[in-house]
Amino acid sequence: MAVAEQGATTHDEPLIRVENLQKHFPVTQGLILMKTIGYVQAVDGISFTIREGRTLGLVGESGCGKTTTSKLLLRIERPTGGKIMLNGEDIQDFRGDKLKEYRTTVGAVFQDPWSSLSPRMRVRDIVAESLVVNQGEMSREQMEVRVAEVLEQVGLHREQAHQYPHEFSGGQRQRIAVASALVSYPKLIVLDEPVSALDVSIRAQVMNLLKILQNEFNVAFLLIAHNLATVRYMAHDTAVMYLGQIVEYGDTEEIYHNPLHPYTRALFSAALPSHPDLIREDIVLTGEVPSPINPPTGCRFHPRCPFAMDRCSVEVPEYKEVEPGHMTSCHLY
Ligand code: SF4
Repeated sequence: MAVAEQGATTHDEPLIRVENLQKHFPVTQGLILMKTIGYVQAVDGISFTIREGRTLGLVGESGCGKTTTSKLLLRIERPTGGKIMLNGEDIQDFRGDKLKEYRTTVGAVFQDPWSSLSPRMRVRDIVAESLVVNQGEMSREQMEVRVAEVLEQVGLHREQAHQYPHEFSGGQRQRIAVASALVSYPKLIVLDEPVSALDVSIRAQVMNLLKILQNEFNVAFLLIAHNLATVRYMAHDTAVMYLGQIVEYGDTEEIYHNPLHPYTRALFSAALPSHPDLIREDIVLTGEVPSPINPPTGCRFHPRCPFAMDRCSVEVPEYKEVEPGHMTSCHLY
């Protein structure tokens, strides 16, 4: 399967198509000359698609490139290679009104509901901010109507628009963050660890809210999460990242029931021991994640892989479709 088709399940153009995306950060030395002595390969040639109304879960250990990927999608960072296409158009080409439109098309909800909302702003102004910045043609009355509407859609009361963030609980604050992301009728919301800072009892409520909103508004999610149970519950498709690359991709239930890549299997073995419907393996992840400045040759996972063979340290495994819609990069397949 060609790189551009990785992750595609039908032939129509997906909402988001990421092709061979790369983000390398220069490592410099010297205070004045700032000589570049290497590059952090934070994201190194990843490809995936996100379809309308679907959720793609991105999992992997800290530093594997998940958050850099989300920043590239949000255009907070610019790629050093590859493309992100929205409905077939390269987002790096967007300027002026087109860029404003993109900013309304893609929203974001971040991990910490305590620090992501300005404590000095009323909920009304926090939620309306994206409308003010990107939809300047709306009147104040229209904005107030929209803010009241979206607050009710996330399970808050319109009267709460006049309150400040500190007057709300953690779960309610994350609902405000969801309202801010939703207010401009986005087609995609990047959810970066959206429930990990919440009490366990509140997590299910926020996850259920997100699923309801997705069904109602056909919005797609890119879900970044450490918690594999959260991804299984929320995501239609799952991509597993290791050292800046996607090592496995496919339908979530297929991956959770039939993980192929030794890294995915080790990750699941450590994190999902109590799920009775999943096969439990004892694959222990040893060693630290190698430096993304100087990643291992061949398969990047080979220094930690219990199944490593001689060829693994010299040959880069091909990323290929092993079962219908189920991709992985490993010499075992
Ligand atoms: Fe392990 Fe080799 Fe597969 Fe890499 S290619 S995951 S080292 S078996």
